[in-house]
Amino acid sequence: MILVIQNGYRCDYEMKLFAGLFFDESEDVVITQNFSYENNVINTYTEIIFENNIYYEDYYFSFDADGKSQKLKKKIFIAACTKSLSHAALKIRKINFSWGVMCGIRPAKNVRELAEEGFSEEQIRDIFKNVYEVSDEKTELALNVAENEKMLLADIGKNSVSLYIGIPFCPTRCVYCSFVSTDIRVSGKYMAGFVEKLLLEIEKTAEVVRKTGSYVENVYIGGGTPTTLSAEQFEMIFEKLYSCFSLEKIKEFTVEAGRPDTITEEKLRVMKKYGVNRISVNPQTMQDKTLEKIGRRHTSDMILNAYKTAREIGFDVINMDLIAGLPDETPEMFYDTLDKITELDPENITVHSLCLKRAADFKMTDNELAKSDIMNKMLSYTQKKMKEKGYEPYYMYRQKNSSGNLENVGYSKPGCMSAYNVNIMEEKQTIIAMGGGGSTKLIIGDRIERVFNFKDPLEYIRRFDDILRKKDEIAEILLNG
Ligand code: SF4
Repeated sequence: MILVIQNGYRCDYEMKLFAGLFFDESEDVVITQNFSYENNVINTYTEIIFENNIYYEDYYFSFDADGKSQKLKKKIFIAACTKSLSHAALKIRKINFSWGVMCGIRPAKNVRELAEEGFSEEQIRDIFKNVYEVSDEKTELALNVAENEKMLLADIGKNSVSLYIGIPFCPTRCVYCSFVSTDIRVSGKYMAGFVEKLLLEIEKTAEVVRKTGSYVENVYIGGGTPTTLSAEQFEMIFEKLYSCFSLEKIKEFTVEAGRPDTITEEKLRVMKKYGVNRISVNPQTMQDKTLEKIGRRHTSDMILNAYKTAREIGFDVINMDLIAGLPDETPEMFYDTLDKITELDPENITVHSLCLKRAADFKMTDNELAKSDIMNKMLSYTQKKMKEKGYEPYYMYRQKNSSGNLENVGYSKPGCMSAYNVNIMEEKQTIIAMGGGGSTKLIIGDRIERVFNFKDPLEYIRRFDDILRKKDEIAEILLNG
């Protein structure tokens, strides 16, 4: 068990999170930390008791809080605590953190907030390097992303919302999956009932949008794997969307087609007919052996075919998702995947670091996981390759338990960045979610309210009255704050 005791300043959540990168909950670790801030100097003393030994770090840091916002003060205090903890823990276990002691999942948001506090680019670089100990390469990445996001954020229309529709079904479960999804071999019998309710939820959501004087700027259908739906079911959903909402101001209509074993020409044609202008075809890797190992029921040839069909039908913005750090993949295998994908020249490529959730099945397999230095190599190669091929990083988030505590980055060719993805990261536009596992995010000034839909399709069907009631609550919050 990891026990954290803090005196003087408390940020247990962040400390526990960071300690979890060094230690496992099954280990006995006691971390005591004393914090003080006097005469513009922060002092954090951390002591770690582990396997009958004591490891400590006495850390001093100059910081003038005068005229700084509470938000920044809090961030710096947390960074000082994390730094002291990290330096003490590094005496026990050597881990290479290229994001240093930065805790948040949105490094580019940190850049933006520092810029809003009046810091220049040079000062932000300095804070990243000296306060957070972020590597030069990652600092560059965060600055690039923040710069590229700016334009999309500035373009968000007043009273606009995005719609999200979650389809929580997949043909099989990938071993690393930490998303909301069920295997259709088990839950397929609920699909028709699910779609029936979803159509009703679309009607109700349109009422909310009308009542609150909002309009729809983006629609995103994700999952799970939306293409587990049949072409007819897609058509029913699209028909309902067009009949209930006025979609004339829509900028992006995205379907995360996802796994190639579910993509058919017929489904793609239906999407095209109803104005879908962005799709994803997600290989994750082009190594057939790995695809088999991670439980995906398709080959790299099927990925190439799905991509080719999508192009022939006329999709001109295609995203492809890849994962760095899949089981037994060497850097060379990952480079080969990335080279093959960039050869195809999709408009967007998203590179994820394998996310390890402790409870995921993945932990139970014997597969060797790529170590953080291998991951770093893969991601460095990605950064170079993407630049060479004319892609820009434009959205990024870190997953709390991802291998090496690394990042997921969306790259795009100029002019093809997804506003929806940036909205998700920067939380500047309300997103109303429908379907399984959807999470509505209401932006009310500086406040964010979240409303969750049920994840399980059966629960979604059975407790549909609750879903409708929640939609009324959403309308109420949007109207009255
Ligand atoms: S396709 Fe995606 S959502 Fe479905 S099981 Fe695999 S990782 Fe999970």
